[in-house]
Amino acid sequence: MNALKKFKDFIVDLFGFKKNPKYVRNYFHEANIRSSIYMAAIIIVLEIWMIIRQFVKHVGKFLSYDSVKYKAFHEAGFTKSQFFDYYYNKWGYSGHFEYVFNSISFYLLFIIAAVAVLVYAISFIKKNAYTKTKKYDIASIIVSVLCILWIFMLIPQKIPTDNIGKWTTILMYIAIFVLGVAIFISTMYSSFILKAKNLLSVIVITSFAALCLIFGLKIGYSDFAHTADNLDKYYMITCFLTMVIFVTCLLIWKPYISILMNITIFIIFDYMLQSFDGREFLEGDRVNYITFLVSLTMIAISIYQQRIREANKDMNLEYIANYDELTSINNFHNFCKEILKHQKLDHNSIVGHIYLFLNIENFKTYNDKRTFEFGDGLLKSIGLAIKEEFKDGITARQGDDHFVVFTKNEDLENHINNISEKLRMYDNELKLILKVGSYIPELNEKPNRAVDKARYACGMCKNRFDKNYAIYDYQMDSNYHKRQYIINNLDNAIKNGWIVPYYQPVVFSDTKKLCGVEALVRWIDPTYGFIYPSEFIPVLEDYRLIHKLDSCLWEQVCKDLNESLANNKPIVPVSLNFSRLDFELMDAFAVIDGLIKKYNIDKRFIHVEITESALTDNVSKLNDTINQLRAEGYAVWLDDFGSGYSSLNVLKDYTFDVVKIDMKFLSNFEGNQKAKDILNSVIDLSNKLGMKTLTEGVETAEQAKFLKEIGCLRLQGYLFGKPMPKEELYKTIFDGKLIISEVLEK
Ligand code: C2E
Ligand code: MG
Ligand code: MG
Repeated sequence: MNALKKFKDFIVDLFGFKKNPKYVRNYFHEANIRSSIYMAAIIIVLEIWMIIRQFVKHVGKFLSYDSVKYKAFHEAGFTKSQFFDYYYNKWGYSGHFEYVFNSISFYLLFIIAAVAVLVYAISFIKKNAYTKTKKYDIASIIVSVLCILWIFMLIPQKIPTDNIGKWTTILMYIAIFVLGVAIFISTMYSSFILKAKNLLSVIVITSFAALCLIFGLKIGYSDFAHTADNLDKYYMITCFLTMVIFVTCLLIWKPYISILMNITIFIIFDYMLQSFDGREFLEGDRVNYITFLVSLTMIAISIYQQRIREANKDMNLEYIANYDELTSINNFHNFCKEILKHQKLDHNSIVGHIYLFLNIENFKTYNDKRTFEFGDGLLKSIGLAIKEEFKDGITARQGDDHFVVFTKNEDLENHINNISEKLRMYDNELKLILKVGSYIPELNEKPNRAVDKARYACGMCKNRFDKNYAIYDYQMDSNYHKRQYIINNLDNAIKNGWIVPYYQPVVFSDTKKLCGVEALVRWIDPTYGFIYPSEFIPVLEDYRLIHKLDSCLWEQVCKDLNESLANNKPIVPVSLNFSRLDFELMDAFAVIDGLIKKYNIDKRFIHVEITESALTDNVSKLNDTINQLRAEGYAVWLDDFGSGYSSLNVLKDYTFDVVKIDMKFLSNFEGNQKAKDILNSVIDLSNKLGMKTLTEGVETAEQAKFLKEIGCLRLQGYLFGKPMPKEELYKTIFDGKLIISEVLEK
């Protein structure tokens, strides 16, 4: 049973009975269209050659005849004009040319058909590549109309009387007529080519193939007939054989079609040769023909099999290049490509359309809590839901939990609500929320830029409970440009010294004496002026450029320390902020270690601050680097403790020298006993775990007093000084407003 099934599958594959996937069908179709360009070109050249032959034969005959006659006339004493009068009356020049024209009109018809196919095929290929083809369209229409007109001009005079001649001619006319009409319709309504795509072009190719085969039959037969009275010459049916090879090998038919087509055409030819009474069709020749037919069929099958393998390979590669592996919807590359194609064909095709950027908030938590497999499942089903919801638009996954859509700007709220609802149903407990940013593109705006703006708008909804949808607007536009400016000018800023460290004092809670400073970056820009880290750090993190800024700032801090030492100024330890990405994008340990060696600075003067949110991502490389830093003698501080969702986990999993308690704990401090209790517990807990504490954002004396009482060791905040340039810090110290602690560690 199994063997039978295998055999059946083998036959189905061998003869091409299986329906191929759309991609493979298109692949074959485009290959056939390309081949018909070569076929048409060869036919044009061959027919021009035939026409030249006819001219040389007839006009040459006429001229030689003419000169001989003229000589005779001249010798008989007639004048030249008398000769022409006589000659014209007797033969008529026009009659002679008509003869020549008649004998080439058939070739001309074939040439026109070939030109029509050529122009049409080029235009088809260009349209497939989404290139405008106005010139080719006009040419296609002209030539297709010419094909049709030519037939109507020739029909009355050019149909031979003998049976075979008559039918081959009529069939040729029909093939050309169908060809002309198919080209005309599919060019006039060129959207057909893109939508109902292949039908009309299949007709064009098939009628062209039929034309070639009938031409082969006709000329093959007439060559056979013409050589009938001259048995020295062989049969001269090469034209038939050439045309069959031409059509079978250049165009790729499914094997069973090739077989049927070749058998039919050979039977017809066999019949034609037999029915000619001028000469006998020998049995031995038939054997040769059958051998030829079988070989040709084998070639056709082998070409088909080879091509189908290529097509399948191509399909897989194309799939990998254009589709997202996880969700099997478009990837971003294909998304942009599709939009650009439409834009290229028609600028106005994007009018009334909008870009959406969709982000699943809390996806990371979902992934952590429910495992990666579930996370993947979620992305898959949301990807498909988005694709389904925006059927008429173009959708894609842009990586992570980000999706993009290009669609008509209609009924958006409904669509978005439907997807949000699906997401909500997916996991009620973890509160997955869909955040969407939208952007209406300008004409000719590149898709990746437009998506970037939609994404920017989406970013405006981040962590906001009251906002799930944002439209990119004028205000965002100016912020967006600032953001682009930051990305494009980071290198400039580094090179030109626009990146500078500001230092904020850190004091001991008991003595209020200076025990360190935190280096906080500032971008002092010639165009935008003073830019705060909140404006550029998230941007640089988004674009994975933050490590450039950080290493630049660290170097400046080391340089400042080195200068102070050289000038015999007092120094205190400096805390440097490390972004999570610093550990991913560079060897953070090697960079800082290299710098302190370069500037000859003691490790005790550098504290590494890592923000709590960096640690929730479970990055093992980060953990390794933290351990390495501590092992090498750097103090590592936990920044913004209490600002994230899994603060206690962080305390459990990592060890720090100092915990910096987030300034959020101090908001609503006055009269809020709960806040005080929490702070008390946090400090207690840290102490128990062997970590010292620092509270940020201390603004009032009352806060400072309380923090001292509950055992917080260090304090930082506006009460003791805002972040300031190095010179100002030294001025404050020299003015006695800040006193450096005698001991720097407690
Ligand atoms: P952070 O490291 O937690 O820094 C403390 C922030 O709180 C600073 O804001 C500081 O100016 C502000 N601050 C200090 N005391 C008070 C106070 O009493 N009241 C109030 N309201 N604010 C206070 P800044 O300088 O704008 O920095 C913001 C954040 O940007 C920093 O938070 C840090 O996460 C990041 N950052 C700053 N410099 C760098 C850097 O060089 N590299 C990296 N990767 N991030 C940096
Ligand atoms: Mg910090
Ligand atoms: Mg902080």
